[in-house]
Amino acid sequence: MERILTGDRTTGKLHLGHYVGSLQNRVKLQQEYDTFIILADVQALTTHFEHPELINQSIYDVVIDNLSVGLEPDNITMFLQSEISAIAELTVFYSMLVSVNALRHNPTIKTEAKQYGYDDLSYGFLGYPVSQAADITFCNADLVPVGDDQLPHIEQARKIARRFNGLYGNGRKIIKEPKALLSNNPRLIGLDGNSKMGKSLGNAIYLSDTAEEVNAKIKAAITDTNRIKATDKGNPEICTVSKYHEVFNESEYKNICEMCRRANIGCVACKKLLAEKVNCLIAPFRERRAYYENHKAEVREIIHAGSKKANEIGNETIEEIKKAMSINI
Ligand code: SF4
Repeated sequence: MERILTGDRTTGKLHLGHYVGSLQNRVKLQQEYDTFIILADVQALTTHFEHPELINQSIYDVVIDNLSVGLEPDNITMFLQSEISAIAELTVFYSMLVSVNALRHNPTIKTEAKQYGYDDLSYGFLGYPVSQAADITFCNADLVPVGDDQLPHIEQARKIARRFNGLYGNGRKIIKEPKALLSNNPRLIGLDGNSKMGKSLGNAIYLSDTAEEVNAKIKAAITDTNRIKATDKGNPEICTVSKYHEVFNESEYKNICEMCRRANIGCVACKKLLAEKVNCLIAPFRERRAYYENHKAEVREIIHAGSKKANEIGNETIEEIKKAMSINI
């Protein structure tokens, strides 16, 4: 079985955007691949270093979110990044092989720095693609499921692996060059019409939301603002709710758009229908969530067991790497 490395930053609860963009696919992939899931608490510090308590609380939130959508503990290795010493060591070794300019020009770093409003980047933030290369390669992952915005990071990891092997491999590929497993999953916009659903934007439906919370959030979603009365003809092209129907109510999407254009459906009814569909999707997640929330010791054990396994693999990798670099005694 090939190994995949995927995961989440532990900066808060996961939302429907995460589900559509990644978790849904992850649930399928666990049957086909040896699935490693990183709880990226160190990477979370690159942007949330002033709020370590949030990161700590989010570890459990993120694990339970993953388990609630259908990730099975027996199919996955879920581990905490900060528990894996090999990742920290590899990050240091790899940092010699990457120039500051290459990191500065990484398009994802540039976009994210802009989003966070950073004009003077911290060493940790600028270097997180190096740490990410360590996350991927310490466990010899073959593939990394990503959206196209993350491709520069995979390319960076591949370059590091090639550089390392060229310098120290003596003809051998000591570090496996990872490949991107590109997903074409849709990107969910925010309820406010913002191009991104985000924790900090206040426009998200969380996987942990109750049915009532989902109903209230969808009721307040931005629609076609030119449509004042139910008798006005609407334009689904510019309506957030219609975009959600496309994702969560595929079979009725075209019909709803048509009815909207002809003013055969009002926004209240349209939103109610969407809320039903979303709640129908989340209902089984809520059942699994309730189980894990009542069995926190089991959740802790899943993280401990995963971290132990990841550490065993990581220690072997480090031993081999140090040997190749002649820095063992
Ligand atoms: S009927 Fe539905 S698709 Fe049309 S504007 Fe209202 S909420 Fe949007």
